Amino acid sequence: SSAKSFLKENSLTILTVIGVCTGSAVGIILKHNTGEWSKRDIMYIAFPGECFLRMLKCLIVPLLVSSITSAIGSLDLSMSGRIATRAIIYYFITTLCAVVLGIMLVTTIKPGHVGKVDEFMTEDVEKNSKVLTPDTLMDLVRNMFADNIIQATMFQYRTEIIQPKNITLKDAPMEEWDFSGKQKTGSNVLGLVMFSIVLGTTIGRMKEQGKLLQDFFAVLSEAMMIITSWVIWLSPIGVGFLITGKILEMQSLLLVVQQLGWYFLTVMLGLFLHGFGTIAIIFFLGTRRLPYGYVAKLSQVLATAFGTGSSSATMPLTIKCLDGMGIDPRVTRFVIPVGATINMDGTALYEAVAALFIAQYRRVSYSFGTVIAVSITATAASIGAAGIPQAGLVTMVMVLDTVGLPAKDVSLIIAVDWLLDRFRTTINVMCDALGTILVNHLSKKDLKDHPLANAEPHELT
Ligand code: ASP
Repeated sequence: SSAKSFLKENSLTILTVIGVCTGSAVGIILKHNTGEWSKRDIMYIAFPGECFLRMLKCLIVPLLVSSITSAIGSLDLSMSGRIATRAIIYYFITTLCAVVLGIMLVTTIKPGHVGKVDEFMTEDVEKNSKVLTPDTLMDLVRNMFADNIIQATMFQYRTEIIQPKNITLKDAPMEEWDFSGKQKTGSNVLGLVMFSIVLGTTIGRMKEQGKLLQDFFAVLSEAMMIITSWVIWLSPIGVGFLITGKILEMQSLLLVVQQLGWYFLTVMLGLFLHGFGTIAIIFFLGTRRLPYGYVAKLSQVLATAFGTGSSSATMPLTIKCLDGMGIDPRVTRFVIPVGATINMDGTALYEAVAALFIAQYRRVSYSFGTVIAVSITATAASIGAAGIPQAGLVTMVMVLDTVGLPAKDVSLIIAVDWLLDRFRTTINVMCDALGTILVNHLSKKDLKDHPLANAEPHELT
């Protein structure tokens, strides 16, 4: 009966793992036994996954605003300050560690020196780099101040990268690229986060007068969590179909392995070492415990991060899962939405590796000073990247700019980016969740001094 209760408790996780495996297997079998799939057919196959993704995305804006506002509103100012400080220190240290690890790996493995360079076209390198470092940095700051809070929920990103078909290192069709015209819609999460923090702080300070709004946001946030707990049951199917669709869309694997294999491995090794090494050490230093038990409990969330390739879309599930683990909602509801937006360790690592890989590939020599500059811009690029699929590829432009490479060189790595994106998103989400548990642990005393009406501060078990 202990096996039975294990199955019962973990049924969703088990179903999701089955979904991921079935989705991958079906994708691989279809790809190998049938001819080329048209975009339309792939769209049909991925359709259930698309619907699942839309349901998750639909929760983001109301959940984000209501949860941050009510979490901050229920904390007193000095306490939210302390929690925020801890979270930001965690974000900063882990992102920096990720970047340094990435740089160390890419400079020792030198994946860019493995491929052949002479065949590569080198003309026109200066053209087409319309988006420069200052633009990306200014976008980051600009987005913090949403000029219209309603519009912030239907914000348009500066750039979209259209994934070209059948791309090879040799003949990347640049015409299919557009760094200026096409835009991607999503929400300006950073702007919404900032606004919610200010609103929550204000409501908290208004005491009795603010009670109505405080209750409103608390109830809204609760309702969103209930909806999440329904949607969560669709994740095994949704994630499965999303993965099948993605595999069918994929270009020839052999080619990619030949030309980008070492680069791919470098990023993967870095993500693994960061997620299971560096983060484990930091977590251990803070809590005197190893994080692996928590990681296992998060597997449902991690599978969804992998399936959707989006930290933002996974956010409702992350919060829900941490709630189930008994983490104080006031911490979760603040640290997760902010973390999903600005704390992207996997992305930071990837940005540094990718930029230096391309520099190596191009035989562009770089100095130590450049490496330092890369680490700074890679950090900024990860903060600036939205929690949506392949956003990191877009903000990469500014890291490339630091190494003196043109924006269109992103095309070199585009063939494997969708897959790397899944893995880095998984690490991004994992680091946010573990960070929340760590911050919760460090804030235990503060939280105990201000108990919530309906929840006990949690002791790590
Ligand atoms: N897809 C990633 C995320 O949502 C961002 C990235 O492109 O690196 O976390």
